[in-house]
Amino acid sequence: MTDRYAVMGNPIRHSMSPEIHRAFAREAGDDIEYTAIECPRDGFTDAVRTFREAGGRGLNVTAPFKLEAFRLAERRSERAEIAGSVNTLRLDGPMVLADNFDGVGLIRDIQVNLGYPIGGTRILLLGAGGAAHGLLQPLVDQRPTELVIANRSPERARDLAKLAGREKPVRGGGYDEIGDGTFELVINATSASMEGALPPLAATSFANGGIAYELAYGLGETPFLALARSAGAGRIVDGVGMLVEQAAEAFAWWRGYRPGTRAMIQTLTIPLV
Ligand code: NDP
Repeated sequence: MTDRYAVMGNPIRHSMSPEIHRAFAREAGDDIEYTAIECPRDGFTDAVRTFREAGGRGLNVTAPFKLEAFRLAERRSERAEIAGSVNTLRLDGPMVLADNFDGVGLIRDIQVNLGYPIGGTRILLLGAGGAAHGLLQPLVDQRPTELVIANRSPERARDLAKLAGREKPVRGGGYDEIGDGTFELVINATSASMEGALPPLAATSFANGGIAYELAYGLGETPFLALARSAGAGRIVDGVGMLVEQAAEAFAWWRGYRPGTRAMIQTLTIPLV
């Protein structure tokens, strides 16, 4: 029988996950069915139950259901516990298992695909929503010299920084609390670019030759990336590599085979400028 997987979100029609996972399955020689399911906003838990009862073996979860997926999981990875949200569920055993591969996807894209070591850098993380939560622990694990989190609602950034633990070089606050100095890695984990907006960030925050990473993808050169480019960042990148890398981690967790990612990233990349 064909194994069934899906991505659930709302809206979901623009999701690239079906295309990515079907290609991974072809490469692995696996016979799977992968669909996109748009759940009613109050119907995620019911949709998961129905999918599981019909033999569904795994799910990718996207906005706005990552927190609900966290709550319905019966066992979660340590990084998912720290993130407080999950983006992948495994349904093929007696329990619903959950993990969050967003952080590992970002780290792999920066370190492996872009060849940029994160250890020993100063990192500025913009945003304190679901995605930023998923990035915290994986970034801290790379041992940056400092991680500063800035958010429109400063309290959320402060609360997120606290999750890293007191002894870690992590602080959070508003954009006016970023302070002086430059950052080799500036990550935009806000959703501002989706509405064509720019977080109130000083051009002087970008280190010459550093990386500006936009989590959103498929939008071309966003206001954030345009600012970074004019400020002298060495690489401006969008989140398509992270998307493909987190998908590969999910596929490996479900199927025991980690597909290649380079060709898929190339296929999905839209030139930024
Ligand atoms: P959330 O809704 O959970 O969080 C949104 C964040 O953006 C909050 O910190 C919010 O601040 C901030 N924000 C929203 N609008 C503005 C604005 N105009 N100016 C400044 N800050 C703003 O979203 P997610 O964390 O789930 O997603 C964030 C982005 O990351 C999205 O673009 C999403 O597509 C992308 N993403 C990409 C992935 C990939 O694989 N490449 C994976 C996951 C997400 P406040 O707290 O004050 O409301």
